[in-house]
Amino acid sequence: MKPPTRLFIFDADNTLRRTTVPGKPCPHGPGEWELLPGVRERLGAVRWGGEGAWLGVASNQDQVAYGHLTAAMAQRLLADMVRAAVGEIAPAPCIRFCPHALEVPCACRKPAPGMLLEIMAHFGVAPAETLFVGDAPTDAEAARAAGVGFVWAWDFFGWGL
Ligand SMILES: [Mg+2]
Ligand SMILES: [Zn+2]
Repeated sequence: MKPPTRLFIFDADNTLRRTTVPGKPCPHGPGEWELLPGVRERLGAVRWGGEGAWLGVASNQDQVAYGHLTAAMAQRLLADMVRAAVGEIAPAPCIRFCPHALEVPCACRKPAPGMLLEIMAHFGVAPAETLFVGDAPTDAEAARAAGVGFVWAWDFFGWGL
């Protein structure tokens, strides 16, 4: 029998949040994003912490490398997003992002599994107990490379097709 999910990891852009500024792939500052429909409701139904599940975020933020926002701002915006989605939960969510330029090889940018592996190590959770939710083929590929289950964001949040 498949063990219950102890760790949910989410992609950020177009999975939990969307940019409200046309032409920007991700927000560069506060007030440039909103939660996607159903996110607060769906995540509000999950029992977090303790005997429940833990939460991680794995996001490619190459806009940092191109100088559109600082790493500190990227971190802050992702933390704001998680707080808007689930409020304060314990243990604290584990947020990881890849700040590298697309032309720079690195171990963290999805489809590499680096961030997913780091988040699992952070919580001490096995791949079989972990689920990754994302909207891009690179998300699905990262999940496969990390050996964790994958669900498309529209299926997880019930957006339909
Ligand atoms: Mg995405
Ligand atoms: Zn990277």
